Amino acid sequence: MKKFIFLTGGVVSSVGKGVTAAAMGRVLKARGLRVAIQKLDPYLNVDPGTMSPYQHGEVFVTEDGAETDLDLGHYERFTDENLTRASNFTTGQVYNEVLQKERRGDYLGKTIQVIPHVTSEIKRRIALVAKATNADIIICEVGGTVGDIEAMPFLEAIRQMRRDVGRDNTMYIHVTFLPMVGATGEQKTKPSQHSVRDLRGAGIQPDAIIARSDLPVDDDVRSKLALFCDVDARAVIPMPTVKSLYEVPLLLEQLGFGNLICERMNIPNRGPADLTDWKTMMLAVQRPKPELKIAIVGKYADLPDAYFSVRESLYHAGVACDRTIKIDWINSEQLERDKNGELMARIMAAHGIVVPGGFGERGIEGKVKAATYAREHKVPYLGLCLGMQIMCIEFARHVLDTDEVNSTEFDPATTHPIIDLMPDQRDISDMGGTMRLGAYPCKLQPETHAYRAYAEAEADVAQAAATTGHAFTIHERHRHRYEFNNQYRKQLSAAGMVFSGVSPDNHLVEISELRDHPFMLGSQFHPEFKSRPNRPHPLFKAFVKACI
Ligand code: GLN
Repeated sequence: MKKFIFLTGGVVSSVGKGVTAAAMGRVLKARGLRVAIQKLDPYLNVDPGTMSPYQHGEVFVTEDGAETDLDLGHYERFTDENLTRASNFTTGQVYNEVLQKERRGDYLGKTIQVIPHVTSEIKRRIALVAKATNADIIICEVGGTVGDIEAMPFLEAIRQMRRDVGRDNTMYIHVTFLPMVGATGEQKTKPSQHSVRDLRGAGIQPDAIIARSDLPVDDDVRSKLALFCDVDARAVIPMPTVKSLYEVPLLLEQLGFGNLICERMNIPNRGPADLTDWKTMMLAVQRPKPELKIAIVGKYADLPDAYFSVRESLYHAGVACDRTIKIDWINSEQLERDKNGELMARIMAAHGIVVPGGFGERGIEGKVKAATYAREHKVPYLGLCLGMQIMCIEFARHVLDTDEVNSTEFDPATTHPIIDLMPDQRDISDMGGTMRLGAYPCKLQPETHAYRAYAEAEADVAQAAATTGHAFTIHERHRHRYEFNNQYRKQLSAAGMVFSGVSPDNHLVEISELRDHPFMLGSQFHPEFKSRPNRPHPLFKAFVKACI
């Protein structure tokens, strides 16, 4: 029988429930268990793809092309498992499905209600992950905070699960926050007590409480929580804010979390988790290292969550190259104006420049300005999706000697549409459905930065390709509408742009780089989704090396 851990949140949002779920996944995997993780989002959007980054932060893309919550990025980075579309669903998807069934007449004349129809659809989707993944344990994180009206059907569904699959096969963990009050900095348990009361009101008694706090939690507070919330003292897990997210699995294991789960759910205890590799990695993370300054030029510079995976990928590459990455977030719209050159001075002080993905024309010229600087001054540049398109626009403006060059996304009437929709995309108007999403193959051209970067990481694959005469092919995740316009390939390659990665049929440019430059490279895909703390992405690593 499969086991389910349900994670709810109390008091406030954004206290690290996603990281906690991900870290639990790592701890259980390190005990030899097969783990799947899933996020249930209570909002009505079908997916976060059409939401502003201000609302939602980064949209994480899975191999199979689902646009999902950024918590899935934590799950993948911590457990080192590729997730699928089944790992994240929203109230929007649930209602969509229920209403379609209703229209088809599947409910045979019944009145459709939240209980049982909506809750059954929620349970069906939880079971789907259990089936599809072959996992022993499914960690299921309920988004939002207990007490929110919109989360009620989810709480009811997970309450019912206990009856459906049995008490031994379900465990409820509530993640709360201990605010500190006044000059004494006293940690208050009252909000946690209230949120546990709300949870009980929904029929769920938590088996464990993870108490998030900015400072260490002392034993008094721990026993108070145990008493008022009616859980074992050792099932109150204090979780102070740590310097690096990747410390959390080690902390959980140290606090006996793995044993607790095994006992509570009758899982044969195979002894402590083997986190040897993780510990070695943490030592490398914590070791003092020389600094490397990277400027990230984007529209949401004041909201780093919008670029979560990019930031993490740089950190991963930094650890592998023995550097502490210091990121300077440069707002691309402000860079456009930048009258006294203050932002440009910050770019000049950086060892390398990253232009991440994005949509819409705001801030585009600021990004082009950063690319011009990188090209002219031979500063390492890494372009991610939009960042590659920017690099191509900038180079083409230089080669064709006209500012008319643009993407039709930003100037539909441009005379030089170097980035454009493919002919078969032109008539589609549904914003949610026109994107190239998920993993696609890309063929690497030998003797390029891209080839060398991947060949270092995947020496055996590169070697096999070289001996058989087949192309060295990689797979990377996409999320974009526009493509490099092939009409310009010849002219730009003559001028020094190398198309170092293309689709197997050679129709689409996937990676472009500059020949006479130490490292100016852009990818049409998003490499940041595949970087792992103990396995940095080849392109990020090559970029960081170039910066060094
Ligand atoms: N806006 C660009 C496109 O749709 C780039 C998208 C992105 O950076 N993710 O092609």
